[in-house]
Amino acid sequence: MDPQAGLHLLDPVPLTRFAPAPTGFLHIGHVVNALCVWRFARAAGGRVLLRVEDHDRQRSRPHYERALLEDLDWLGFDPDIYPTDAFRSGQCSGRQSDRDGAYRFALASLIARGLVYGCDCSRQQLESRVYLGRCRDRGIPLRDDVGWRLRVNAGVETFVDLALGRQVQTPSMQCGDLLIRDRLGNWTYQWAATTDDTLQGITHVIRGIDLLESTGRQIYLARLLGRESPPAFLHHPLVMKSPDQKVSKSDGDTGIRAMRDDGWSAEQVIGYAESLVPVPLS
Ligand code: GLU
Repeated sequence: MDPQAGLHLLDPVPLTRFAPAPTGFLHIGHVVNALCVWRFARAAGGRVLLRVEDHDRQRSRPHYERALLEDLDWLGFDPDIYPTDAFRSGQCSGRQSDRDGAYRFALASLIARGLVYGCDCSRQQLESRVYLGRCRDRGIPLRDDVGWRLRVNAGVETFVDLALGRQVQTPSMQCGDLLIRDRLGNWTYQWAATTDDTLQGITHVIRGIDLLESTGRQIYLARLLGRESPPAFLHHPLVMKSPDQKVSKSDGDTGIRAMRDDGWSAEQVIGYAESLVPVPLS
């Protein structure tokens, strides 16, 4: 069991998080998100937790983690919980690959309630974005070489996004039964992020609008984990390269590394990101 689990639940101070995946270098879109996260926390008298979302072991790389820690230091983003040195010193509860015990512990109660089943569907069988439940009642045990899925019941999730207003989502129709762990042994984003947000007592989730669709299912999952009031959510617009293309990790020109190499100072990068910050946050 993760010794840090639940530690922050007792704490009434607003707690938000910056949660990059080390699958590429940080780009200007991350800096805009970080500005939103840190500004919100500072305005609310709250704190920021740094989480390295390396749940996907095939795509994550240690050198991207080292680079993102260094870029955050260079830009002056200083996390209150799990500062960058906590990651450099070895095992860290802010790093998802070090939290296998927490994810197993959280899942145990759902398994005991009969909510999780093994799924051996291949990629080809998963032709639709909504899982249609082929393995729901096949009695496949939760082995390491099969996917683990959670039964998602019909029902509507309603929440008020701090930027977008009232949202209504239906997870059972958007995604069906949720994959918790894939057949390669990776915990999925939805499971790892929701378990972390719950156990770490995150009160405000501030992230790009590309994750808006995930929110209903994360509220659903958090409730199963025992969280009656979910965190507040704020989804901000993404930084776009062109009207229909967001900036991404593969865009060298908007990568913080490339900007540094081109002679930008940290102040200039922050100033540029400030000009792109989409929503007033105080
Ligand atoms: N790790 C995700 C990303 O880098 C962010 C997840 C989240 O904020 O919930 O896009």
